[in-house]
Amino acid sequence: MTGIARPPVVELTGVVKRYAGGVRALDGIDLTVRAGELVGIVGPSGSGKSTLLHIVGTLDRPTTGTVKIAGHDIAALSDRRLSALRARHIGFVFQAFHLASGMTAVENVAEGLLYSGLPRARRRRLADEALGRVGLADRRRHRPHELSGGQKQRVAIARAVVGQPDLLLADEPTGALDSTSGETVMELLHTLNAEGSTIAVITHDTEVADRLPRQVRIRDGRVVADTTLGKVVA
Ligand code: ADP
Repeated sequence: MTGIARPPVVELTGVVKRYAGGVRALDGIDLTVRAGELVGIVGPSGSGKSTLLHIVGTLDRPTTGTVKIAGHDIAALSDRRLSALRARHIGFVFQAFHLASGMTAVENVAEGLLYSGLPRARRRRLADEALGRVGLADRRRHRPHELSGGQKQRVAIARAVVGQPDLLLADEPTGALDSTSGETVMELLHTLNAEGSTIAVITHDTEVADRLPRQVRIRDGRVVADTTLGKVVA
């Protein structure tokens, strides 16, 4: 460790999210995630995880409080600029994969570069490389229905990281998988983190969270514990 703090990728300060009807889904969240971290955001159903995912993913704005992603205060951005920031800085992985069924694995991964401005051939080449990184080079022409659940999630992860986002945001990434495939997916996230990716995993599963170096526990829209067990990859 050098002692020099890595730059924050996510900075939430006093974030409150109130829904119509008066529910305070987030009740004053302060959370900083720095480059190179692998953090689990864990809480039971109803604790505010989905709301937090939407805020950190810039899919929604807070009622009050500030949200900075890669140093940009999202309050200052129009919806259009915010979409551009999201495309550039955040890669998403969802429980249900969200792959396009009519496309091959490599085409799905290349979708992650759609807004990059890169020419098609280069997008393909980078997609091929990303598929290789998740161990699926030999499945590049397979369509989602020809892949196992774990393989689909690895394709989704390749799509999320192909543009080298500042943050990989994974929402219950093992939720739809059997335990062996889930294990493989978590190992992959650890490997990508060791290679430099900053990753936040949102989960209700304490077994998943317990194996991550940092855990942020939320309950009733508040951070109730924030623990770092292992060391951040140097
Ligand atoms: P989790 O993902 O941990 O289950 P959520 O973020 O979905 O938690 O929900 C947090 C709280 O906010 C819950 O009490 C939930 O009922 C409430 N909530 C979530 N979405 C809405 C909504 N669109 N309108 C009103 N209340 C909501």
